[in-house]
Amino acid sequence: MEAKNLVNASYAWKSILMGRDVIKRGATWRIGSGLSVNVWGENWLPTKHNPRIITPVVVGWEGAKEASRVQQPSQSSTQALKLLWNKIWALNVPNKVKTLIWRACKNSLPTKANLFRRKIIPDGRCEICKQEDEDIMHAFYRCPALQSLKNSIPAWNQGSLKQSTCFTDFIGFIFAGTANPTLFSLVLWNLGNRLNNLKLGKPTLPLDKVLEHSRERQLESHSSPMMSTKQRRMQTATWTPPQDNWYKINFDGVTFADDRSAGLGVVMLNKEGRVMASVSQKIPLPMTVIEVEVLAARRALELAVELGFDHIILERGF
Ligand SMILES: [Zn+2]
Repeated sequence: MEAKNLVNASYAWKSILMGRDVIKRGATWRIGSGLSVNVWGENWLPTKHNPRIITPVVVGWEGAKEASRVQQPSQSSTQALKLLWNKIWALNVPNKVKTLIWRACKNSLPTKANLFRRKIIPDGRCEICKQEDEDIMHAFYRCPALQSLKNSIPAWNQGSLKQSTCFTDFIGFIFAGTANPTLFSLVLWNLGNRLNNLKLGKPTLPLDKVLEHSRERQLESHSSPMMSTKQRRMQTATWTPPQDNWYKINFDGVTFADDRSAGLGVVMLNKEGRVMASVSQKIPLPMTVIEVEVLAARRALELAVELGFDHIILERGF
């Protein structure tokens, strides 16, 4: 596909090359090892429409190959990850919490160490202790500032946790022991939220309130596995209407662990908050929570296209 069209090439060869552009437009890469596939600018996404990434190239990832994303894990590590994922999936916590833990396992959170590695910030050190790089293990466990929080629950101080060097192993120990994974995952969520707010200069939950706040959330999620009443009230209160001639499309995905399925919900509202259109769809359970959310967002966009609306604002949640 990269061959040059030389002046003295044969008639047959020139004819073949003339068809190349047509083939390029419709052809899609079969990923294989991913070593030959550029993440940007080539058709490799498994979808008929827009098979290439259309967002701007992320700084630091210009020459990325699909192989760096696939990374061909071994059979045993794939199996271990699947088992771990099933355990995370079964937690009675909001989807956003499961997503955070999974992204931490895949080291895809914007920790300062990751941002520094991608040359987005000049310093990868922890915002709080300013002693070590803020990688996943530091942000969620190793930072000295978290010591009194860890002391509050003895199971979180066990040797196997302290010796873990990789977050996936660490979470594996949390699930294997008596460390109360539900509460732990809510603490991780609050810590992650806190770090984000710190980076953005927003008010943060004090460290000594993280455990108490997480316990409250645990009690709430026991009363409603999908979404707590408090969360619903908060989300309703923060809905803002769109401007004239604009429409807001709210979308969300929910998971049904019992029958291994997921639901996508989409509602389009005008500026008075009146429902213009809605759609719900049940699908087989995808591998990750983030996929459920992305599919819900895609369904929202499809609804807008189907109905011919182009002044739309997409918003997650209802
Ligand atoms: Zn620190």
